Amino acid sequence: MDHFDYKNGALAAEDMPISDIAEAVGTPFYCYSTATIERHYRVFAEALAGLSATICYAVKANSNIAVIKTLADLGAGADVVSSGELTRALKAGVPADKIVFSGVGKTRDELAHALQENILQINIESEPELQALNEVAGSMGVTAPVAFRINPDIDAHTHDKISTGRSEDKFGIEWTRIHDVITRASDLANIEIAGLAMHIGSQLTELEPFRQAFIRLRDVVAILRADGHNLPRLDLGGGLGIPYDAAATPSPADYGKVVTEVLGDLEAELLFEPGRLIVGNAGILVTRIVYVKEGATRRFLILDAAMNDLVRPSLYEAKHDIVPVSEPNSGANLERVDVVGPVCETGDTFATELDLPSAEAGDLLAIRSAGAYGAVMASTYNSRALIPEVMVNGNAYSIIRERIDPDTLINYENLPNWDS
Ligand SMILES: *Cc1c(COP(=O)(O)O)cnc(C)c1O
Repeated sequence: MDHFDYKNGALAAEDMPISDIAEAVGTPFYCYSTATIERHYRVFAEALAGLSATICYAVKANSNIAVIKTLADLGAGADVVSSGELTRALKAGVPADKIVFSGVGKTRDELAHALQENILQINIESEPELQALNEVAGSMGVTAPVAFRINPDIDAHTHDKISTGRSEDKFGIEWTRIHDVITRASDLANIEIAGLAMHIGSQLTELEPFRQAFIRLRDVVAILRADGHNLPRLDLGGGLGIPYDAAATPSPADYGKVVTEVLGDLEAELLFEPGRLIVGNAGILVTRIVYVKEGATRRFLILDAAMNDLVRPSLYEAKHDIVPVSEPNSGANLERVDVVGPVCETGDTFATELDLPSAEAGDLLAIRSAGAYGAVMASTYNSRALIPEVMVNGNAYSIIRERIDPDTLINYENLPNWDS
């Protein structure tokens, strides 16, 4: 459920008409709904009531500091995957002792940054990384709290590019080797073993892979505990999918039930790292039709938004709902169109053979469910601007990131000053 609905014949974010924002800030832009972000966080938190749970919002889904702060104000922690995201989480007011640091390639500088800030835990994904962390912590005279990310070798049945829990994926330490690794880790002077972590992929639309992975985690915990490792904390990652089209996805409540059934009696503190589930449906990309072009076999709606603004359709074959901002009459004429951007690539396509109410150049469209992995993945390909992000709260809106124009970016470039 979200708070983007038609009101008085026009799409609104909460009580704010989208066309008013478009008039003021220009298109394209991202628009987020505060009430939707808050609602999704609460629904997820309620699904975990009864468990000892901390929700560490996966900042990479949408890392605008206004979004992070909205969640921090509700009590959320943060899951970060870079020094930059750590800086953002702290700036947005997430307490350091609710921040976990994930990722396969954390540099020594990043590890030092995490230790300096005294965050809750660093999720270790390989033995070389463990060695590096032990050395960095030693040189700083501190002990590093560590969770070991296991790769459970479970297929999450999601898009190949966002599957992370199979043995051929780069993430985590093979579950069959975790006992060896932890045994060695317990001899390292500057490592404190806080627990285990896992994250098997993103946009999961079935609960069964979660269940299989949790069962594997429980088995590993039993073996390690029998060996004297306490493992007070288990980080279960994120990955719960959202409905991009009408398709059904598991509810947070059903996910919570699976967690409780499999892991509820382990007496561990549980961490969760949802990203997409919290912010995905809380954002739309607002765009204007530049031209309607009659091709030989297709009618194209050419937008002012492109793959550089929202890459998910071209990268993951993602299907986002597209709706007119002006509410169509019931029984409005539908036309079959391809919805494309202006970038010089055929991959710059948001939808093919979509039935939309007849639209003209100048009309506004909203590409829905664009709150996660949208703005954060934007680029300036084709020397296009980084578009603004706007946040709505009730009948007010605020520009939470300004448009960054090519002029500004070109200022960072230099002509080489060869002397000859
Ligand atoms: C990306 C990621 C998440 C968030 O995934 P969602 O599908 O957005 O919930 C959580 N944990 C880790 C380690 C990740 O890499």
